[in-house]
Amino acid sequence: MAMQANSCGHEWVVELTCQEDESHLDSALIDVLGDLLSVDNFAIYINKHVTLQAPPILINTHSNLTYLEPNQAQLILNKATPSKTRVIHTTDDVTTYIPVNHSDTILGVLIIKTKQLITDRISALAMYILNVYANQLWILHKSRLDPLTGLLNRQTFDKKVMEIVTGNGFLLPREQADTKRCWYLAIVDIDLFKNVNDTFGHVVGDGVIAQVAKLIKNNFRIEDYAFRYGGEEFAIVFQSQTNTDALNALTRLRQRVASHDFEHIQQLTISIGFLELQSADTVSGIVNQADMALYHSKKTGRNKVTSCHELTLSKEVRISQ
Ligand code: GH3
Ligand code: MG
Ligand code: MG
Repeated sequence: MAMQANSCGHEWVVELTCQEDESHLDSALIDVLGDLLSVDNFAIYINKHVTLQAPPILINTHSNLTYLEPNQAQLILNKATPSKTRVIHTTDDVTTYIPVNHSDTILGVLIIKTKQLITDRISALAMYILNVYANQLWILHKSRLDPLTGLLNRQTFDKKVMEIVTGNGFLLPREQADTKRCWYLAIVDIDLFKNVNDTFGHVVGDGVIAQVAKLIKNNFRIEDYAFRYGGEEFAIVFQSQTNTDALNALTRLRQRVASHDFEHIQQLTISIGFLELQSADTVSGIVNQADMALYHSKKTGRNKVTSCHELTLSKEVRISQ
């Protein structure tokens, strides 16, 4: 959409800062840059890896997203100089690299190709626009996180699971690249956590929750998603090739928690229930099933991982006997 002209000429600030959805923010950035810089040939690389626990992305002028391998992304990022525009002349054209900074981090780079050198006014304006975009991106990023653990929060969970189930969002290309992988959801609950609070107090309890969150994060890949689902409950949305692989990954986590030397309390265990996500699922249906498997882990002695799939099979066997 074209920027409306008014007396102050800063509508683009409103356009960027009113966005609450990240993909809309990206589209708004493309619109604003296209309208205000009057250059057609540009591309923006934003490392969503930094802010989003997601694969690096290249956003081009038509708001199409290209997914980059981390090393490919890093090569592009290396072309930017912190807080400064960098210009490379060739015989045919001029390429200008303008960094997208947030605090001391380079989040990305705007690459503009022109026949002639762009003016200082244009590059300064681009820098302002990118700063406003980066601040808004950071605010959106922060609003998705749980402050105690740094994991994604409960509010983000439904949206992310829906994106996965419906095949939308930035998860699609990875699935296309590797069709054999499926998405799984695990719900993790700390065993007998009330005892920790009762014995050591809530401050120690909070520290333990943060420690478990760290173990969860370290046990999964950067492109998997870990959420603080509730008080001492976590959700993990991750990819595996088979149910057995998923079970192995979760068993590894269970064992790591059980053998971890927690400050003050020393020993702690977790129970887990999990299932594979199917395209026809609803979020509440998925969570209910995972809860049932989790309940089974609790009922049968805790410090266990239960697969919904195995649970259903064993029930069917019992019914048919
Ligand atoms: P179970 O093995 O059956 O899960 O036993 P449990 O004691 O862990 O039982 P449950 O999961 O029902 O209880 C969770 C307890 O976690 C209740 C509450 O006191 C505590 N809790 C919930 N949220 C927080 C939190 O943010 N911080 C702290 N310190 N404690 C919390
Ligand atoms: Mg609980
Ligand atoms: Mg518990």
